[in-house]
Amino acid sequence: MRVVLLGPPGAGKGTQAQIIAAKVGVPAISTGDIFRANVSGQTELGRKAKTYMDAGDLVPDEITVAMVKDRLAEPDAKAGFLLDGFPRTIAQAEQLRESLAELGHRLDCVLELVVDQEELVRRLSGRRMLVDGQMVQRDDDKPETVRHRLEVYREQTAPVAGFYEGEGLLSRIDAIGEVEEVTARALAACGADDTGQPTSD
Ligand code: AMP
Repeated sequence: MRVVLLGPPGAGKGTQAQIIAAKVGVPAISTGDIFRANVSGQTELGRKAKTYMDAGDLVPDEITVAMVKDRLAEPDAKAGFLLDGFPRTIAQAEQLRESLAELGHRLDCVLELVVDQEELVRRLSGRRMLVDGQMVQRDDDKPETVRHRLEVYREQTAPVAGFYEGEGLLSRIDAIGEVEEVTARALAACGADDTGQPTSD
C-alpha cells in the first residue's frame, strides 16, 4: 500500500504514521525526521535544511524532492510506504506523482488528519520529545514559530489536500479522539480493517 498522510503540525501525524505503517507492513517515511537526523548528524543536507526549519519555513522543494526520491528508491519502500509530512506543496505532489508513474505505481490513499486550530496550538505548546534521555521542546515548537508553521500549512500545504481531492484519493479523518479511534478511522478510509488487512468487499 502506498499512502500519504497530510495534516497540520500537531495533528498527530507522526504517531499515526508509525502505528498505521506497522499495521499495514510498510515503512513510515517522515521527511521531518530525515531532516532532523541530518541536522543532528551535521551533514551537508542538514546544514542546508536547518535555517528553514528553525524559521518554521519549508525546506525548498528541490532539496526535499531529491531526498524523498532517494529514500523511495531504497529496497524497503519498493512494495509500499507511508509518507508522513510529504508532499507539503503542490509542486512536491506533482513530482511524487511523476516519480511513481515512472515506476508504474500510484498512491492508493491520501489521509488528511483534521484538527481545529485551537486544539493544535494547545497540543504543540505542550509537546516534548526525548533527546539523549531528556524531554525537550523542539526548537520549532516555540510559540512564535508554531504560529508561522500553521500559517505555512494553511498557505502552502492545505492546497495539497485539494490536489488529491481532485484525484479522488483524499479522505479527511477526524483526528480528535483516542489514538486507536483515529487509527481505525484512517485504516477504514484506506480499505483496511483494524489489523491493517484489506477488507474484502
Ligand atoms: P515535521 O516534523 O513534519 O513537522 O517537519 C519539520 C520541518 O521540516 C518543517 O517545518 C520543515 O521545515 C521541514 N520539512 C519537513 N517536511 C518537509 C517537506 N515535505 N517540504 C519542505 N520542508 C519540510
